[in-house]
Amino acid sequence: MLISIPGFTTTDQRDNSHPVHPVNPVRNGLAATLSLDEPKLPCYRFFLFFRFMHSYGPIDSARVKRLGTVLTTVLDHIPFRIDTDALLASLRVAARGEMAQEVLRLAQEAETAARPRGLYKIAFVESRDANSVVIDGWPFTSRVLRVNLDEVERVFPFVATCGVELEAWSQSPNDMFGRYCADVIKDLALEQAVRAIGEHLVNAYRPGATSMMHPGSLDDWPVTEQGNLFALLGDVAGAIGVRLTESFMMWPTKSVSGVWFPSEDGFESCRLCPREICPKRRTPYEPDLYDRKYRRG
Ligand code: SF4
Repeated sequence: MLISIPGFTTTDQRDNSHPVHPVNPVRNGLAATLSLDEPKLPCYRFFLFFRFMHSYGPIDSARVKRLGTVLTTVLDHIPFRIDTDALLASLRVAARGEMAQEVLRLAQEAETAARPRGLYKIAFVESRDANSVVIDGWPFTSRVLRVNLDEVERVFPFVATCGVELEAWSQSPNDMFGRYCADVIKDLALEQAVRAIGEHLVNAYRPGATSMMHPGSLDDWPVTEQGNLFALLGDVAGAIGVRLTESFMMWPTKSVSGVWFPSEDGFESCRLCPREICPKRRTPYEPDLYDRKYRRG
């Protein structure tokens, strides 16, 4: 059956053994209430709707959609505001002067144009062997992912993007500095999209401490694995505009895909990555970590 209220739509589940909201009985109760047992009076539906919107404010920017055969949560109204002081500092531009004016102009244009988006779904580890796992029927080959999901059943595959609108806008500056600013601004929009997905799934599913892995961030999990990740998530291009190229790269390029999973260890790919010069490194390389934790005994 289909239940629809403004800003939030859910449908029956593909696999009824996984409830609408596995850990939040209140939200499960809402879904159950809306589905079958309560009076069908329109005013009662409105009461439920307003009670729902008051209790779960953040979810009103998200829609649970069926993408093909896959039930996915889509966030396509993620607010984007630029901290211009931080932007100027990161560009090493003094707050006064012509260059600052140009940066502020670009930031204002970008805020108007930008529509960062993201989507994620709840998925379940179905089987494991030495170097791979099967998640919701899709195999993924990575020893590191396999070990990281050793004790894990429920995961959250996701894709986030700066959005096709900002990608198009970023082609408009016709000088190198303008293009560079646009690139930095797209990074900010992507960060905002990733943050929004993380906050949304934490509010909705309370997974505890989490980490994430991205296909292509380590040799162990090559970028070609994005094919199965996108297949697992359904029609990603139709929902948020992100598509894979023939070489399994994402477009818009300022997009990120991966799997969020419960983890007390605080896994970071950077801990296994020996790359010496990387402006995005988040944590130091630990040369012995692979042997200690991931190498097959
Ligand atoms: S060090 Fe850089 S390249 Fe290596 S995993 Fe971290 S962010 Fe990626």
